[in-house]
Amino acid sequence: MTAFPPPPRPVPAAATDPTAVLQEVFGYTDFRGEQRAIVDHVAGGGDALVLMPTGGGKSLCYQVPAIVRHRAGQGVAVVVSPLIALMHDQVGALDEVGVHAAFLNSSLTGEEAQQVKREMMSGRLVLLYAAPERVTNAGFIAMLESLQERGLLSLFAIDEAHCVSQWGHDFREDYLNLTVLHERFPGVPRIALTATADDHTRADIIERLQLQEARLFISSFDRPNIRYTIVEKDNARSQLLRFIRDEHEGEAGIVYCASRKKVDETADWLKAEGIAALPYHAGMEADTRRRHQDRFLREEGVVMVATIAFGMGIDKPDVRFVAHLDLPKNIESYYQETGRAGRDGEPAEAWMVYGLADVVNQRRMIDDGPAGEEFKRIQRGKLEALLALAEAHDCRRVRLLSYFGEASHACGNCDNCLNPPQTWDATEAARKALSCIYRFRQHGGNGFAPRAFGVAHLLDVLRGKRTDKVAQYGHDRLSTFGVGADLSEAQWRGVLRQLVALGHLRAEGEYNTLELTDSARAVLKGDVPIVLREAREPVKGSSRRSGRREGKVPAAAATLDAQAQERFAALKAWRAEVAREHNLPAYVVFHDATLAEMAREQPGSLEALSHVAGVGAKKLEAYGREILRVLQAG
Ligand code: ADP
Ligand code: ZN
Repeated sequence: MTAFPPPPRPVPAAATDPTAVLQEVFGYTDFRGEQRAIVDHVAGGGDALVLMPTGGGKSLCYQVPAIVRHRAGQGVAVVVSPLIALMHDQVGALDEVGVHAAFLNSSLTGEEAQQVKREMMSGRLVLLYAAPERVTNAGFIAMLESLQERGLLSLFAIDEAHCVSQWGHDFREDYLNLTVLHERFPGVPRIALTATADDHTRADIIERLQLQEARLFISSFDRPNIRYTIVEKDNARSQLLRFIRDEHEGEAGIVYCASRKKVDETADWLKAEGIAALPYHAGMEADTRRRHQDRFLREEGVVMVATIAFGMGIDKPDVRFVAHLDLPKNIESYYQETGRAGRDGEPAEAWMVYGLADVVNQRRMIDDGPAGEEFKRIQRGKLEALLALAEAHDCRRVRLLSYFGEASHACGNCDNCLNPPQTWDATEAARKALSCIYRFRQHGGNGFAPRAFGVAHLLDVLRGKRTDKVAQYGHDRLSTFGVGADLSEAQWRGVLRQLVALGHLRAEGEYNTLELTDSARAVLKGDVPIVLREAREPVKGSSRRSGRREGKVPAAAATLDAQAQERFAALKAWRAEVAREHNLPAYVVFHDATLAEMAREQPGSLEALSHVAGVGAKKLEAYGREILRVLQAG
């Protein structure tokens, strides 16, 4: 057996106080929400399951205990993380604040990996990041055993713990083997963390990771800095362009599309319009994908157009918007995807367009899918909840949070709160549409067999348009011909969308012909009131003035006066240089909010600078003088 150098000596109690560590190392004044309780519990040797929304601050929940326990002579914390691509930046960020951390993954040379293992086995390392398949392999377990025998295995953190559940969409086979940690190292505290909140996933995590004894910490899932907006699809692309130009020019964002083709097309189109957009999907070369992800993380103001293949583990804090051009699968996905905006706590936006075709497609994907009836029933229920959110006239946040079992009040920071929609009673209109579809099915005009028709023809009949097809089928003789001339096409689409959303209508066949479902009968009889949002007149043209909504979301720097803006720009230029030198994203050096505070407060001494949130001891020492110089020069 190799002889290891003696473990680091324990340090005085003050240095192991969690709040002192938070301030000294990370430069933050206080813990947020549940963080303090979690940190105390885990630093004290307890097991924990932490449910916290994206951006809530999960990393500190294991990093601070790891530092505290390391300082107390308890050795190395092992962090299980599913994405090796991001370990580099996480370790880089710890390095910046002076915490000795490393990762073990396939990107290292044999030499580098040996070096990391030596640091780990000596107990000098504070945190080691590794993927689940590595943590559970026999060689690694043997190393952990050696550490434990010497009292140098301080804790296990299992990040993205929902990967252990088949229920979620990020299932990872390797996570199932993590039970070995509990079986082989029962005395070592474990903390599992996830942003996935539903009961099913939670139960899976507890059972599969054997966390029955762990204390459960559930944070509020509210993300108050995210503004939710859902608009009706008119021309999705130009709506998106207007949204980016008017609200988020030059800012980083993610645009989600359902298909690879649409990702490519949308990215090309945005690029042609002068937006720094890049595509990302699983069909691209791995190399190109990595390069695009890297540029998104490292450069400022890149818009990533992506399928949902992109995003897990992306902890870029200054993503200012997440836009959906297609409906997400369900509310869980929507919340997870939109949650990638504004992790830095600064104002951010979640914006989505959706229309009748999306509703039809989503329903059909479930109906025509290979899943069993029971699973389809659950999927339909989830889709209905999502559609209800999209059609809602009241606070979106209240609905979102109540979906996750949390009560709240109207938020004042969603489209419906800021700009309450008009509604209209569409009960009669719904009856007209349904009865028209019913008549298609009863009478085959002009000797044709009765059949179903698609949306376009239905709208022509309802609105009394004498098209060739109408004449061909003799539909101008139906009693429902022209009964809906008083409503616009947009209004009719709204009615149909709602009817499909509620399951009273179903689209079928190659041409999405509309069929009544069993529940349509009650609507036909007038027993089910249908209340719709008034379709907002789409803003024509893309002039910034006409498209701009009330109350643009101000980001950190927007509140600075002109001179402070200049200082902010100078600080950003300096930060870009440092980031390039260290091969790290700029936000790892300092967040925008930290630079903005420096620009505003203009600290004149190292002491004053140390009070700026986000400036810890190591960064003060490394960069303090430089920053004072930049501020003075500005
Ligand atoms: P999560 O992993 O839960 O999505 P992170 O751990 O990435 O969240 O934290 C989100 C952001 O919040 C990070 O930029 C982090 O530095 C910041 N943060 C976390 N806790 C605090 C705190 N107590 N005070 C100030 N900033 C914090
Ligand atoms: Zn609201």
